[in-house]
Amino acid sequence: MSQVETYPVPQQIADNAWVDEPKYNKMYQQSIDDPEGFWAEHGKRIHWFKPFTQVKDVHFGADDVHIRWFYDGTTNAAYNCIDQHLPHKKDDTAIIWEPDDPRENARHISFGELHEEVSRLANGLKALGVGKGDRVSIYMPMIPEAATAMLACARIGAVHSVVFGGFSPDSLASRIQDAEAKVVITADEGLRGGRKIPLKQNTDEAVANCPSVQAVVTVKRTGGGIQWHDGRDHWYHEVLEKASSDCPAEEMSAEDPLFILYTSGSTGKPKGVLHTTGGYLVHTSMTHQYVFDYHDGEVFWCTADVGWITGHSYIVYGPLANGATTVIFEGVPNYPNASRHWEVIDKHKVNIYYTAPTAIRALMREGNGPVEKTSRDSLRILGTVGEPINPEAWRWYHEVIGKGKCPIVDTWWQTETGGILITPLPGATPAKPGSATLPFFGVKPVLVDNEGNHLEGATHGNLCIADSWPGQMRTIHGDHERFVQTYFSMYPGRYFTGDGARRDEDGYFWITGRVDDVLNVSGHRMGTAEIESALVLHDKVAEAAVVGYPHDLKGQGIYAYVILNAGEEETEALRKELVDICKKEIGPIAKPDLVQFASGLPKTRSGKIMRRILRKIAEDDYSSLGDTSTLADPGVVDDLIENRQNRS
Ligand code: ATP
Ligand code: MG
Repeated sequence: MSQVETYPVPQQIADNAWVDEPKYNKMYQQSIDDPEGFWAEHGKRIHWFKPFTQVKDVHFGADDVHIRWFYDGTTNAAYNCIDQHLPHKKDDTAIIWEPDDPRENARHISFGELHEEVSRLANGLKALGVGKGDRVSIYMPMIPEAATAMLACARIGAVHSVVFGGFSPDSLASRIQDAEAKVVITADEGLRGGRKIPLKQNTDEAVANCPSVQAVVTVKRTGGGIQWHDGRDHWYHEVLEKASSDCPAEEMSAEDPLFILYTSGSTGKPKGVLHTTGGYLVHTSMTHQYVFDYHDGEVFWCTADVGWITGHSYIVYGPLANGATTVIFEGVPNYPNASRHWEVIDKHKVNIYYTAPTAIRALMREGNGPVEKTSRDSLRILGTVGEPINPEAWRWYHEVIGKGKCPIVDTWWQTETGGILITPLPGATPAKPGSATLPFFGVKPVLVDNEGNHLEGATHGNLCIADSWPGQMRTIHGDHERFVQTYFSMYPGRYFTGDGARRDEDGYFWITGRVDDVLNVSGHRMGTAEIESALVLHDKVAEAAVVGYPHDLKGQGIYAYVILNAGEEETEALRKELVDICKKEIGPIAKPDLVQFASGLPKTRSGKIMRRILRKIAEDDYSSLGDTSTLADPGVVDDLIENRQNRS
């Protein structure tokens, strides 16, 4: 294993942070020794209509699971995100909206304005027959109205189900059907990278097969031509005009559902993850404050789409519950050019920037030129989420984007976890590129072998969480049995994440990818992420994905898919260099047996590599590729099959 460098916490950050290293150690220990006491105190960070007296009621059984937090308290998520700030922040900016086209004007929406619009929409939804507990699907571009729609649902106790605006009519329909939504909120068209996306038309197609839907509410974004269904269709602005702006927030029990969100589908059929109100708000607001070291008045930009959990927790609920200014960006990183993100940072004086490794790698490919045209002086903290970040991309993010000054928080979590679980804290945790480092307060990560034996010390295993945390999902909508089966039956008494991880001598966690992706080569367990990180060190390589395939001698062989930088030639000499770089960086055991040069990788719409498909191709078993409906570009699969290396 190559020597790992450590980046100490910058003194200036530690001095001003909410949490420094001694405080982290102390608070973490408290949270583990006395979870009830710890959460009784921190549960008070949100506004409760009726304070809770009961903190935690959790049972992780092999065939019976229930999870309740703060369960006799009452609150409201929209009240926490808006109303509680009105006395002192009415005119402060809640949302900065940056449109797709930089020539169009940005919008600044104050907490007062957000209050008025959310209240009107909430009354409008009531008028359309939506009540407490009813589901509303939201299929929107990245415009402020997406957040308004979520908050309006929360205000009246309706359960939102946001469906990513890049999904097809079929994917939308199956999610509306599963949630049995009464209303769909959409826009006429979305805009991304200068391209129009026919959201209303897609909605019309989807709703044709969704008998539960009684009304469709449409935001006029582009003014493009759409079809209209009288009696069913309503303009968003007309719904607002007709409604009163007086809508008191519904008193919700802590355990009333707040939303359903479908997972991104990297590993199979998406699951309708259900989150509830009180614990989710405590967890997301608390992680937003501590993990990003958010201080009052800072501008926070999470580049995720609201269609993913990252957008729910760190564009909408976490930041707004803390009274932060949150940026909603409609566009993409490379339109109109590769400086776009850095220009947005300068324009809106962004202090905290949170993005995904896939975006960092894509921008890194463009070189330093587009970055160095901008100042990025406002930046203080950088974050990443979604996949393991390869150390080379980490260093580029740190040195080039953050000019070596900004701590990077590599945050590991899942749709299911509601918020961040394993992460550095900027003022407390020395960083190691590629490691998500240490658990957040109250989180007990454990590693187990395939038989469920608890593994101690520096080792590698299946990542489980030994006890509940407030933001944990409560069930799969409509299928509690699948919930128990998927997450609790494998290792009874623990939540199984599905991910593999390594823990080093310092207790730092290194997520190695899905357990299904952990390789066992001649008895040595290795994460695909480690081999991929070695491959992308080669300067001709843009991206790599590694999977295992059955191998007569070694048990599993290593199959690498490699995407070269534009203009590079696919030669046997290069193939050998790639094998050698893995040997040099990790060891002879990590040498790929087969290297396929590819033009693209199968990715989900959230930008994650679907290794499940790559594995099938490597196994020469491409008949059963499974659910590919969440792929961004299904076309790449044919190309990969065509050029596979393992022909039998
Ligand atoms: P599905 O569960 O439907 O297959 P998904 O797991 O891709 O979809 P998400 O909940 O969006 O859906 O992703 C969570 C997963 O992303 C984690 O289980 C982990 O594999 C990966 N991940 C997230 N953050 C990190 C990180 N910082 N480091 C490594 N992996 C990460
Ligand atoms: Mg998952």
